[in-house]
Amino acid sequence: MSLLDTFRPDVRALHAYHVQDAAGFIKLDAMENPFALTPELQDELGRRLGAVALNRYPGPRINDLQAALRRHAQVPDGFGLVLGNGSDELISLLSLACAKPGATVLAPLPGFVMYEMSATLQGLRFVSVPLTPDFELDAAAMVAAVREHRPAITYIAYPNNPTANLWDDAAIEQVVQAVAANGQGLVVIDEAYQPFASKSYLDRLQQHPHVLLMRTLSKFGLAGIRLGYMLGRADLIEQVDKVRPPYNISVLNTEAALFALDHEAEFTRQAGVIKAERERLQSFLATLPGAQAYPSQANMILVRVNDAASTFAALKQRGILIKNVSGLHRLLANCIRLTVGLPAENDALMAALADLLREPL
Ligand code: PMP
Repeated sequence: MSLLDTFRPDVRALHAYHVQDAAGFIKLDAMENPFALTPELQDELGRRLGAVALNRYPGPRINDLQAALRRHAQVPDGFGLVLGNGSDELISLLSLACAKPGATVLAPLPGFVMYEMSATLQGLRFVSVPLTPDFELDAAAMVAAVREHRPAITYIAYPNNPTANLWDDAAIEQVVQAVAANGQGLVVIDEAYQPFASKSYLDRLQQHPHVLLMRTLSKFGLAGIRLGYMLGRADLIEQVDKVRPPYNISVLNTEAALFALDHEAEFTRQAGVIKAERERLQSFLATLPGAQAYPSQANMILVRVNDAASTFAALKQRGILIKNVSGLHRLLANCIRLTVGLPAENDALMAALADLLREPL
């Protein structure tokens, strides 16, 4: 018996989440906002953070943040709102709150890895349904899985990561209706990439009491502060709130988020530049014989190439860090994921890809 035997075997078998050392690289691997704050904004942030009392637990300022987020996201009156240390934490809290014996989480794959990870770690069964080969939601297969497994939670990423597309609304509606027909179970619409998408599910929420909407400030430009939020029918959100660790959002987090929401227009402007840059990258990728780029409504583009591993390595050698997603799912064979960067970073990426992707697919 070793001390390590104290731990769960499935936890011992895991690898801790590894973050690549990106120092000195053009960092296009993690869907971050590439813009630095202007010196004026940096000064204001410094002043505001400097005035925060670190000797107290988070207090009423969190209510100001709740109110600011409600305004920012135009949360319908009467809806509940719960804050998480990134939406990662909310995914985990929802699993915890729903982890009855035999409970199931359903999600299409390829998709965001945390849905599965948080489910299995909290003892829920994870069931997945493959997307179609062009990365659309397979509505018939999803509906069949909903009927068979009666999931407690069904995740729909809108847009999806890593495929970056917005699934067909009629297909999503079929899944939402199928869950409703079970008479139990929640649907979470994960709108992490909403700042770059042409549509949101927000307007449809009121028609479907079992649908919760999740968003994050990460893609709005603040991945470093870790702030996600989930909204929906108040009595459902309340259950998630009950399993939330008290004080999960630090006073520094809160102040930085309030600062960002006070300067919403600046972050919205940045998202506009990123969308324009995305289109510039797409037009360029369309001209490359060795690239098949998929449509994107996010700040990333999924691209199929002849050899993802060697493309990744060659880009890294040129100082550009992207993500090779080939290993995540069989549908992603030889796929790389490019995060949209600053115009100059995208220029460097395009110059490198023009060189590397000359061989036709
Ligand atoms: N949902 C999706 C679809 C994502 O891709 C990500 C992060 N890449 C998240 C949620 C988590 O975001 P965060 O924890 O930074 O709020």
